[in-house]
Amino acid sequence: MSVQEALEGTREAEILSGMEESYRRIDEKQGAWKHAGAPLCIEGCGDCCTGFEPDILESEALYLAAWLIDNEPERASAIADGSYRPPEGRAQGTCILFEPHSPLHCTAYGGRCLICRLFGYAGDYGKDGKKRFRPCRFYPEDKLRRYGMEHRQYHEDELRQLYGTLPPAMADCMQQALLLLPGSSGETQPLREILPKTIRRLQWILLCTGGRDGGGEGAAPAGEKGGGAGT
Ligand code: SF4
Ligand code: SF4
Repeated sequence: MSVQEALEGTREAEILSGMEESYRRIDEKQGAWKHAGAPLCIEGCGDCCTGFEPDILESEALYLAAWLIDNEPERASAIADGSYRPPEGRAQGTCILFEPHSPLHCTAYGGRCLICRLFGYAGDYGKDGKKRFRPCRFYPEDKLRRYGMEHRQYHEDELRQLYGTLPPAMADCMQQALLLLPGSSGETQPLREILPKTIRRLQWILLCTGGRDGGGEGAAPAGEKGGGAGT
């Protein structure tokens, strides 16, 4: 039983389901954008994660925490109790889930945060309210030329001419994630701070609801005695 299924009927399950749908829509839009011939990420490249740590919303943290509990319960527990040792060889300031020695790099790919899903494949809005897109700044010039692009901003009209479709916009995706948190100020926190406490919170709720143990054989919430949101 997945975390989402075990938490059915709770606010957390609603958020998880909303994020799943939101990420599904991003995949769909990006699929069309990639299919139309937009520049694809270079295999093995992880430059956008290097020296970077995402600041994330509660909804993103919940999704990532649930993914870790579902897929890597022991690592989830280690992150929650502070015994987790992030991969070695990461540049200073790099996300704790980044593995520099693996070509995939992200060790929580299926649960990764919003911005991580948008790297390289999202646009924004210009002052005229129209979408625009700038290719990833790490993209080599020669490879970019093969896609008929260069390192500059492209306006919606140009993009339509080039690809006949548009990439998702970061602001729209953020808005969807925020809508799942009514009354929230939209506060974000660094991943290394919000993830351990969100895992502990999910472990605690799972234990209280009796759905599953929330972190491997006989695991109990790590170092926390109370439920409460975002504690
Ligand atoms: S969660 Fe994964 S994709 Fe996102 S910054 Fe960390 S390592 Fe990179
Ligand atoms: S978005 Fe850019 S830096 Fe990140 S993986 Fe793709 S090409 Fe590399």
